[in-house]
Amino acid sequence: MKNFGSMLNRAQRALKLSKYLAVSAAVLAFGHVAMAADAKIPVVAAENFYGDVVQQLGGDRVDVTSILSNPDQDPHLFEASPKTARALQHASLVVYNGADYDPWMAKLLAASKGSKRVTIVAADLTGKKGGDNPHLWYDPATMPKVARAVSEALVAADPAHKSAYDANLAKFLDSLKPVDAKVADLHGRYAGVPVTATEPVFGYMSDAVGLSMRNLRFQLATMNDTEASAADIAAFERDLREKRVRVLIYNSQATEALTKRMLKLAQQSKVPTMSVTETEPAGKTYQTWMLTQLDALGTALAAGDANGANAAAPGAKGKTP
Ligand SMILES: [Zn+2]
Repeated sequence: MKNFGSMLNRAQRALKLSKYLAVSAAVLAFGHVAMAADAKIPVVAAENFYGDVVQQLGGDRVDVTSILSNPDQDPHLFEASPKTARALQHASLVVYNGADYDPWMAKLLAASKGSKRVTIVAADLTGKKGGDNPHLWYDPATMPKVARAVSEALVAADPAHKSAYDANLAKFLDSLKPVDAKVADLHGRYAGVPVTATEPVFGYMSDAVGLSMRNLRFQLATMNDTEASAADIAAFERDLREKRVRVLIYNSQATEALTKRMLKLAQQSKVPTMSVTETEPAGKTYQTWMLTQLDALGTALAAGDANGANAAAPGAKGKTP
């Protein structure tokens, strides 16, 4: 957070603007009552995977706007704009991650109080807070909780269509079963295997698979846009050069000279790499996105296994350096 001061100033300007906009939001709120019975529920999701899930649960009853939707930008560096404030003022339902992943959301919402908006925060549902790994949607336990809360809010807003929302929720929860099965399969084969990553985005999924994640301080430095220590960089490089890790998980959305250097070193050292993103790519659903990445992880772990890596699961016999 090198530019935290200037970020704060920009956030404050956005807040002032949203206070101004909140006045017109209050006027518009009266208009809601008179809305046609078949009007869609306006929803804003801070991140597009939550938006996708709301869309799956709400079908043609919801009108969803997702704020973070570009898999080529670093969400940790996102700053709220007047456009963000405008989208929020019309929303009946708001979903965001929390745990300091999207601190601009709480600020914008606080600046436009008074509407009958329902807000769902993934961090609140999962007992996470600022300082915890904020990439909650990679924890297989998170999305079922978010989905249930969203479905409940949709039923409350539009009770006439309860049976449709209930059916959509059941279908969604069912569609997560292949993800859970894949996690269990990988866990059975690779629990305890050491891996590393350039940024903590995949951390919860790695934990679910039972992998042993190394170089966490380095990853936090990448996430927070601070400099990793010389010792942490050296440890990371040694893990790759000496193949002490089976796979390098590379966040293609949080890249800088140092993480690119690690990717190159992994390739030179023949440590398999897999690329992950923070934002759901176009053309994917949350479910297919998770499955694709788990498949890529399985492929990378299998390649690392066949590659004579020194990294072995506890109890397994690894080659000595
Ligand atoms: Zn991240």
